[in-house]
Amino acid sequence: MIQVSGTLYSYFFLCARKLWLYHNHISFESEHPAVQLGKELDENSYKRQRHQIDIDGIAKIDYIKDSVVYEVKKSDKQSQMAINQLKYYLYLLYLKGVKMSGQINYPLLKKSLKVELLDIDIKEIEHNLLLIEQELQKPVPPVAQKKLFCTNCAYYDFCFS
Ligand code: SF4
Repeated sequence: MIQVSGTLYSYFFLCARKLWLYHNHISFESEHPAVQLGKELDENSYKRQRHQIDIDGIAKIDYIKDSVVYEVKKSDKQSQMAINQLKYYLYLLYLKGVKMSGQINYPLLKKSLKVELLDIDIKEIEHNLLLIEQELQKPVPPVAQKKLFCTNCAYYDFCFS
């Protein structure tokens, strides 16, 4: 069984090719300006509250306070992806017998979003994990197909030049 990291899980909702490339250690993430901004935000936001929590080396929770798991995001453009990722973190904690709720904070937008893990989410996550495993067992990556967000993807040149 493949261990699915939080990052990998969120890529499943974005692009099967990105999922496959990242899993196979083909990565350009650190050079991309959008990722740099994310890292800066990660280092500077909520400094006092931050105690990153590692779950089995596959997920890093930004911080936990009063039984709420917090994630910090720079923009809400991909808010559904952030919700899916946070639900996955709540699921990993649920597997360990820890029941928590979640909240996504957008410090640059001065807003937040509450997230709960429902029974239907658990079923959906387990189904998604099976689909992810099927994708990752393929011997070659899926063919690149242009989507709206491809221009913001770190793999853009790799896929289309
Ligand atoms: S550039 Fe587009 S097709 Fe290529 S990995 Fe990124 S999202 Fe997928």
